[in-house]
Amino acid sequence: MAPLEAVVWPCTLRCNGVCVHCYVRGRFHRELGSDEGRRLVAEVAEAGAEMLSFVGGEPLLREDLPLLMRYAVDSGLMVEVVTNGFLMSGEVARMLSRLEARVLLSVDGASKPVCESMRGEGAWERILAAAEVMRLAGLDFIPVMALTSFNVREAGDFVSFSCGVGGKMASFLTLMPSGAARGNRLLALSPEQLRHALAEICRVADSLSYPAEVRCTPFAERIADSSHVKVWGCYYKVMDLNSVGDVLLCDVLDIKVGNILEDGGPESWGRLYGERVGMGLLDWRKLRGKCASCPSKTSCLGGCRARAYLETGSFFNPDPLCPI
Ligand code: SF4
Ligand code: SF4
Repeated sequence: MAPLEAVVWPCTLRCNGVCVHCYVRGRFHRELGSDEGRRLVAEVAEAGAEMLSFVGGEPLLREDLPLLMRYAVDSGLMVEVVTNGFLMSGEVARMLSRLEARVLLSVDGASKPVCESMRGEGAWERILAAAEVMRLAGLDFIPVMALTSFNVREAGDFVSFSCGVGGKMASFLTLMPSGAARGNRLLALSPEQLRHALAEICRVADSLSYPAEVRCTPFAERIADSSHVKVWGCYYKVMDLNSVGDVLLCDVLDIKVGNILEDGGPESWGRLYGERVGMGLLDWRKLRGKCASCPSKTSCLGGCRARAYLETGSFFNPDPLCPI
């Protein structure tokens, strides 16, 4: 069994944003209280994870977030928080800095109109203010763009933006057809749009000698041609939870394989990993269509299995976003 690198926990359903592409809205219905949250953190540490990622909703809306994060750090975990930045203040930034937290700041655009077309009116100024507060506090942060048809033309500019506001790197992921995004087909990216975006990300990262990463796009290793751009494949060493600690096959899929509070951390990780292996998700020989004869199949494993499943109904069909 592979070691567990990270656990992702949507610690709250509450949000002060109105993003059109939210992957959580409408999916989860209850959040854990402080005592259950502490138990969840303890089980994550017990499972041997290196990192616990607090996502939402908007994690900074949880009043006990500092306590839960401190408990996680005292339990030997590194911590991460994914935030829209609206509640960032000097005090919050210093708290996160003391915890040596990794901070991902959701932005989604390199200009006010594009950012606000996805994150709602007023988001741009609040995000810029958050970036400035974190920069002044000496807190490293990573601006994030979820690539969609609305913002894909700004992918290259987003690398410059991240550099300009003092981000540690520019981070990209692709929209998943989950939560609120599932009902908005206008947001969907085409394979050719993604190919072009990857080329622009590489071009600007090279021109600035500035780092960027692209997540959950295993096939991009064939396209992204830059020493400054890191491409991440599927996170098989990550355990995704929902808001009440149910263990999910992937954070965008509501396929439950257990519950970390009921089963415990080590048992949950063993069960999730066994499920992924048992279903054949790590077996390239099960791939169909163009993936079956692709030279990258042993490393790419057919792209994102969640997207293939959500868009085609089978885990073993090619990822519809693969431009190859
Ligand atoms: S199944 Fe897809 S979304 Fe989930 S971790 Fe793998 S690549 Fe990412
Ligand atoms: S064809 Fe399939 S295996 Fe090849 S790069 Fe695309 S998704 Fe990956």
